[in-house]
Amino acid sequence: MIPFNKPAVTGKEITFIREAMKANRLAGDGPFSLRCSQWLERTTGTRKALLTTSCTHALEMAAMLAGIGPGDEVIMPSYTFVSTANAFALRGARIVFVDIRPDTMNLDENLLEEAVTPRTKAIVPVHYAGVGCDMAVVMKVAERHGLIVIEDAAQGLLGYYRDRPLGTIGHLGCISFHETKNIHCGEGGALFVNDPRFIERAEIIREKGTNRSRFFRGEVDKYSWEDVGSSYLLSDINAAFLYAQLLAAEELLSDRMDSWRRYEEELRGMPCSKRLERLSVPEDCRHNAHIFFVKTRDLEERTRLIAHLKENGVYSTFHYVPLHSSVAGKAYGRFHGVDRHTTRESERLVRLPLYSGMKVGHIRRVVRLIRRFYLEKGISE
Ligand SMILES: *Cc1c(COP(=O)(O)O)cnc(C)c1O
Repeated sequence: MIPFNKPAVTGKEITFIREAMKANRLAGDGPFSLRCSQWLERTTGTRKALLTTSCTHALEMAAMLAGIGPGDEVIMPSYTFVSTANAFALRGARIVFVDIRPDTMNLDENLLEEAVTPRTKAIVPVHYAGVGCDMAVVMKVAERHGLIVIEDAAQGLLGYYRDRPLGTIGHLGCISFHETKNIHCGEGGALFVNDPRFIERAEIIREKGTNRSRFFRGEVDKYSWEDVGSSYLLSDINAAFLYAQLLAAEELLSDRMDSWRRYEEELRGMPCSKRLERLSVPEDCRHNAHIFFVKTRDLEERTRLIAHLKENGVYSTFHYVPLHSSVAGKAYGRFHGVDRHTTRESERLVRLPLYSGMKVGHIRRVVRLIRRFYLEKGISE
């Protein structure tokens, strides 16, 4: 059996969790949280990395910080996880979905400008598979119209656009440490505050609307209720787990990258290789091997390929059902322009098994099964 995903484990997690327990300081912003935040700030250069309970919560914080309210419009791709839209719908925003680029599955930056209206407040680029959106264009459009850019970099940690780490380019960036991501702690996330004018309020929103962070730093002699907010701190037990993963980030990344490249090489050499489209990484992006996908001809072929792999003990899976086609997507959003690629490309995409420590033999087996599937169909092109 080859699973689709196996959450990474470095071996150090349990040591750090024991250490956290010994320190007897297990709530949020304990010693391990501090280490994780510092690691993230040092490694990515973000002004402030605030650990959160999830990327979903980081997105919710970002929506509050951006001052999103009823009637405001927020532009994003429809091909994304529900949280990207939900965080803004929760504040009463109207979601404006734009089409994606078929090569990266990221929002088509050339459609942004025409989707802007006087009600537009923010753009939320999603870096699918850890491949950067064209952030130069995104930032230019945002600047021209005075919009806030919130990167959904849930999958993007250690991916780069030009020389900039994903999540650090927009005003705010949201990272996920869910167990399905490259680096994880079961459930967890981070908000990258890149624009310093949001730092103080971000700390308050994250601490139940209080200035407790300032109190702990000794900047005020008591803390009080200052603003709206909620409880978004990651437990230090999770942070201890996460810190073990961050320390091993380079190894985890290079292992995934080896697997990713092996898939690419093996598939490229296959007789039906032209039939199966794969990710083409733009020149100014360095991805993080978060997802390896192939695209079949159509939905019907995809269904059969996934079934064929499963019959042979390999778990592959499709990905997002476009949000604009969902019940909530219709209630809270609208699709701007024509859906040329979103539905069609999402119906063709299959994600192949990819996880840290994946055996070379297993990758070869997956590729052999794909080859057999197309040979049986009599397809060699
Ligand atoms: C995983 C993911 C999220 C949500 O992350 P959680 O930490 O599970 O809340 C949001 N957006 C995208 C694009 C994701 O891949």
